[in-house]
Amino acid sequence: MYDVKMASRAELEGLLRELGQPAFRAGQIERWLLRGATDFTEMSDLPASLRSALAERCEISRLCPLRRSESADGTVKFLWELFDRETVETVVMQYQHGNTVCISTQVGCRQGCAFCASTRGGLRRNLSAFEMYDEVLMSGRESGLKISNVVLMGIGEPLENLDNVLGFFSLLGRKDGLDIGMRHISLSTCGPEGGIERLAEHKLQLTLSVSLHAPNDELRSRLMPVNRKSGGVEKLVARCNAYREATGRRVSYEYLLADGVNDSDADAEALARLIRGSDAHVNLIPLNRVDGAMLEPSPPQRVESFKRTLERRGVNVTVRRRMGADIDAACGQLRMRAQNSQSGGEKP
Ligand code: SAH
Repeated sequence: MYDVKMASRAELEGLLRELGQPAFRAGQIERWLLRGATDFTEMSDLPASLRSALAERCEISRLCPLRRSESADGTVKFLWELFDRETVETVVMQYQHGNTVCISTQVGCRQGCAFCASTRGGLRRNLSAFEMYDEVLMSGRESGLKISNVVLMGIGEPLENLDNVLGFFSLLGRKDGLDIGMRHISLSTCGPEGGIERLAEHKLQLTLSVSLHAPNDELRSRLMPVNRKSGGVEKLVARCNAYREATGRRVSYEYLLADGVNDSDADAEALARLIRGSDAHVNLIPLNRVDGAMLEPSPPQRVESFKRTLERRGVNVTVRRRMGADIDAACGQLRMRAQNSQSGGEKP
């Protein structure tokens, strides 16, 4: 069976051609899927014969909520089961400026960052454009919250699934769907080889966040293996500067603070030197403890001192507020726990 939500627009048009139908029918089908249709019989503007031909050949997969946890601060986290029994996580955070959904872009991750739970089982597969769209649609529906912003900061590396991510952006921006435009989207990346350059070509008005986490190659390569393959921190910053030039959009660096690892004042000085001359923003993230990672969050005084050192060097810096800490809302933790309990013989 062919799953329409795993298909690209071109594949869907191909299928319609085989069925002797014009290409515009693909847009009609998409419009139904954008509204969450689960059955071809609902698609009342398609000829009845096409509806039954589609039902014979295709399925419409959907995300099934496996787990849901809610934090005292209003953060809601979902673990979804996909059509092939794989799982991904989505988090909804309530902010003053609107509700934000943090979505996964891949099932698992191949980046191997030392501090991250998402990468433990490696990469299983990419998510399709519609699966990502459904994370947003379904989280809104299941939580009863109106979603105004989307961040690609969940499981996976979005720039290694760029085609589907671009398809997802066009679904998200459709006026007949959720109508969430580029200025309401942030994409977070560890900066794999060629990724930032490819994204820059599209000149999107989204916010690019780059996971830096260390001011030099020795440390960054230890925490993030991608650093060795992509040419090091100097090159990464140069790519971000070029991205800023090409798109006119200010880049944001994420820097998580791990006790005694990357949080000294000397590290802050080195970070300020590394990004000097750019108008980039630095977002400091207190580390979330992950089982087995052997890293501890920096104490609050250290975070403050790191921040002040950057400020003295004229760096634009904020500390990210922790959301949903009591429900394992950090990247990949719910999925990891669910898998661990499954392999322990327990039913999820
Ligand atoms: N692959 C992308 C997006 C997913 S990770 C990237 O690397 O940016 C989203 C953000 O969460 C990244 O900045 C990542 O470094 C951070 N992160 C992962 N594990 C974390 C942890 N235990 N504590 C704090 N931040 C973490």
